[in-house]
Amino acid sequence: MDQIKIGAFIQKTRKARNLTQRDLAERLGISDKTVSKWETGSGLPEVGLMLPLCEQLGISVNELLSGESLDGTQYRRRAEENMVRLVREGQDAKKLRAVCLGINAVTMFAGIALILVAGLAEIPLWLRIVLITIAVLIAAGGIALACIIDREAGVFECPVCGRQFVPTMKAYIGGMHTLRKRRLACPHCGKTSWCRRIARSE
Ligand SMILES: [Zn+2]
Repeated sequence: MDQIKIGAFIQKTRKARNLTQRDLAERLGISDKTVSKWETGSGLPEVGLMLPLCEQLGISVNELLSGESLDGTQYRRRAEENMVRLVREGQDAKKLRAVCLGINAVTMFAGIALILVAGLAEIPLWLRIVLITIAVLIAAGGIALACIIDREAGVFECPVCGRQFVPTMKAYIGGMHTLRKRRLACPHCGKTSWCRRIARSE
């Protein structure tokens, strides 16, 4: 998706309706910072907000995703392009998750193997220390990389207001978590709760 183009289009249609960023934010029950983020192209509206947003702007989701007004002949072709793009982005997210699991497995294996060698083999102390240091570095690097990829691949759903969001890296790393849930502050309603992870394509 061309976020810059979509953002400019949101701004143009909002202004054409004589709405300020705050007006639009209030009608959607979100912060005006979120609207500003969309319009500058640094974020796309969450799936759950697309229909209400389009309703407020008097445009179709197809036009929103295309970042422009569409006439009859363009409309269908664009709808099909947008659909293919959405499916592809969903597939990419799934692939990223798989890569992330792979990195975790390799990291864990390499770390355990090095620590076993360091602990069991008849080697000098300095080599033992070097091996353990390398194991710790591999583990830290792998976890950091997996975190970055993992965060990119998923969005979270707030159980209080039901809206979706991508947490900041700081909140993501700092939050307590289980396999499917993470304790995060929702940027829409501000409540901190156990948010369910959902794939970006859902
Ligand atoms: Zn919420």
